[in-house]
Amino acid sequence: MNPASYWLDTAPPFIGSSPEPVSGRYDVVVIGGGFTGLSAARTLARLGVSVALLEAGKVASEASGRNGGHCNNGLAHDFSATAAAHGIDRAREMYRAFDAGVDLVEEIVRSEAIDCHFVRSGKLKLAAKPAHFDSMRRARDVLAREVDDDTAIIERGDLRAEIGNDGYHGGLLYRRSAMLHVGKFGQGLAGVAARAGATIFEDAAVTAIEELAGQYRIGTIRGTVVADKVILATGASQHGPFSWFRRRLVPIGSFIIVTEPLGENLARDIMPGGRTCTTTQNIGNYFRLTPDHRLVWGGRARFAMSSPRSDLKSGEILQRQLRAVFPQIADCRIDYCWGGLVDMTQDRLPRSGTHRGMHFAMGFSGHGVQMSTYMGDLMAREAVGQDVANPWRDLDWSAVPFHFGKPWFLPFVGLYYRAKDRWS
Ligand SMILES: Cc1cc2nc3c(=O)[nH]c(=O)nc-3n(C[C@H](O)[C@H](O)[C@H](O)COP(=O)(O)OP(=O)(O)OC[C@H]3O[C@@H](n4cnc5c(N)ncnc54)[C@H](O)[C@@H]3O)c2cc1C
Repeated sequence: MNPASYWLDTAPPFIGSSPEPVSGRYDVVVIGGGFTGLSAARTLARLGVSVALLEAGKVASEASGRNGGHCNNGLAHDFSATAAAHGIDRAREMYRAFDAGVDLVEEIVRSEAIDCHFVRSGKLKLAAKPAHFDSMRRARDVLAREVDDDTAIIERGDLRAEIGNDGYHGGLLYRRSAMLHVGKFGQGLAGVAARAGATIFEDAAVTAIEELAGQYRIGTIRGTVVADKVILATGASQHGPFSWFRRRLVPIGSFIIVTEPLGENLARDIMPGGRTCTTTQNIGNYFRLTPDHRLVWGGRARFAMSSPRSDLKSGEILQRQLRAVFPQIADCRIDYCWGGLVDMTQDRLPRSGTHRGMHFAMGFSGHGVQMSTYMGDLMAREAVGQDVANPWRDLDWSAVPFHFGKPWFLPFVGLYYRAKDRWS
């Protein structure tokens, strides 16, 4: 079993990284080379702005290259609850930003000819309990009335056309959702940004940021650059001078296994609908097929950070879950198993604004493939003074109580959600 991300293992690597020492002066420096940073760098370079991107490791090698490959519309949080907290107009604006995020990913893929198997597959949320399906019906009524009539309820009796398992109680379909090969998208986006003029430095971890007379001096392990503006796109970063953000984000491990190629017939047997699927439990699963007919099966198997040991333990749990849902493929080989860190906020809404004059966008809470791409583009425009409508502006973002950077409380959070899943 390969402990690497299937997406990164099957994508052509980015070869446009600058071998020079990190030095010079740029209009904008982007820190972080996931989808947020790469999208920002692409937009800035296309606007004719001089831009350097500093990435600690390789581009798209953290969450952006290690996720489930779902590019879904819809909020991570319940729409009615979001409307109750922020008002219906703001909730609509937030919801529509996800629609726009999926549209932007599609537009980039088409206009830049990035070969990454983008398909408007639709997303199917599966009810694990009868009560969850009742809530789903109510949620769909609200969505259809207020913001998204491109959704549909799938009755239990009709689920066989979607999924080869009779255990779910119904589903909610989001037709605007999509899927893509995130490794090929990430490497492609880096290539596009570099060709447009962005200088991309890999293996250039940022260690210090100083403000001097209206400019920023950014120190890395390979040298120092100066910039007028800085965009922070560091996701769930666990290193570098970002402790203000670490106190506000909870880095939660999410884990994925990928089967051997199953063949077209068996793949169609387990997922005839060919959609991205998620389940309704708090500690549920997310899954989809790949173009070569593998099953990508993910979940928050354990409330732990990702590490080689933790990923393997989580992989065993995921394999048991997979066998229970799809006994048809109980004997299949597992070819890949990996994990990554989700940059979770307490209310599962992203955050974006300025901190010490630097622009930031993060906290995508497991719904970031589309939103990170969208917010990277938006922050780039904001940084050059364009008037943009940031859907996450002005949201309160207090530090998580008793969280000083290392999430010592994760096992307790896990216990809480396990109990919730049992009783609700
Ligand atoms: C296992 C898993 C499954 C997921 N599944 C899905 C899914 O199916 N659909 C979906 O929409 N979302 C999903 N997500 C979330 C999604 O992947 C993220 O929201 C998104 O990729 C965030 O992009 P980003 O660019 O903000 O962060 P990242 O991709 O994490 O990029 C941040 C970058 O900053 C760099 N960095 C950090 N510190 C420094 C430093 N000091 N100096 C320089 N660089 C630094 C890191 O090396 C990293 O490359 C999943 C996440 C995980 C972990």
